[in-house]
Amino acid sequence: MNTILVTRSSMPSFEEYCEEIKEIWDSHWLTNMGPKHKALQAALTEYLAVDAIDLLTNGHMALELSMQALGLTGEVITTPFTFASTTHAIVRNGLTPVFCDINPVDFTMDVSKIESLITEKTTAIVPVHVYGNICNVEEIERIAKKYNLKVIYDAAHTFGVKYKGRGIGDFGDVSCFSFHATKVFNSIEGGAVCYHDEKFGRDLYGLKNFGIRGQEVVDAVGANAKMNEFCAAMGLCNLRHIDEEIAKRKAIVERYYERLKGVDGLQLNPIQQDVQPNYSYFPVVFDETVFGADRNEVMAALAESGIGARKYFYPLTNAFECFEGQYDPKKTPIALKISGQVLTLPLYADLPLSVVDTICDIVLGMKK
Ligand SMILES: *Cc1c(COP(=O)(O)O)cnc(C)c1O
Repeated sequence: MNTILVTRSSMPSFEEYCEEIKEIWDSHWLTNMGPKHKALQAALTEYLAVDAIDLLTNGHMALELSMQALGLTGEVITTPFTFASTTHAIVRNGLTPVFCDINPVDFTMDVSKIESLITEKTTAIVPVHVYGNICNVEEIERIAKKYNLKVIYDAAHTFGVKYKGRGIGDFGDVSCFSFHATKVFNSIEGGAVCYHDEKFGRDLYGLKNFGIRGQEVVDAVGANAKMNEFCAAMGLCNLRHIDEEIAKRKAIVERYYERLKGVDGLQLNPIQQDVQPNYSYFPVVFDETVFGADRNEVMAALAESGIGARKYFYPLTNAFECFEGQYDPKKTPIALKISGQVLTLPLYADLPLSVVDTICDIVLGMKK
């Protein structure tokens, strides 16, 4: 059993949460867009610097219902170097994912390869700001405009990230965040959709509540994806401490950089130009031929000391068993290669720097 895991959920003090949920006991209003939901929605609109936001049960439903609300059909260009949710949301909407390779520098979609994948059936691009690294949003916007495609960003890793001073959730037609327990900001389970178009907002709001429009009107085949009051309350508490949490993450990432930068055979997550980062993950790509040990060996060595690093993202989503015979991971060769070499090291606000040093000692001890 590992004693240090790749992440650990941020939590307010017990007293702070109890104080926050007291009103719920008084009102007996547990879910269905109550006061906590409304308060969190308002606070996040401001914090994330976006036009409009709606709150959902989780990041997956944010993606799935956004695609439904946009009425997408046919093919959607996306990345296989992501969490299962991105691809599943596409497939569960009856759409066909067309996988674009990633660039080997920041692991986001290789924008130079998007246009060659567009057909007359393409209706959208679903890029992922993976590990908190932002996609080439300008180039994606240019392509989307040229071919009249929708853009739905999976922004699950980029809570609070800004690009040229603009909230990352402001880009694309829609950006979807996850507030899952393991993310930089959590509401236990939770998710959000940022958008610009009012009609889209109304449609999404309907879809998260069974398509119920009024007491006697049901105008869409919706699901149930409403954030409940207890989750919203957790979000309100965690939001009070988010800047502090990100600052602590920064100190940890700086220590990792200090210890691992310039080591032959190690590629560290990049620092991007004009980006205010959130330090969400610390992936390291191991080039075995130079470093002398491969990703799996390093992972095993860490596990021996009770440290649980994780293979984010391996396998690629286009190599999942559930899609057997449908896609060919060899068509995204850079993603395939990196997924075989990457290891994400532990990173969370309260991870002691002494543990970061131990992790780095173990990693460097594997070098031959
Ligand atoms: C976490 C995550 C999701 C799904 O979010 P949930 O809130 O867990 O449903 C989607 N995409 C990516 C890239 C994620 O990391």
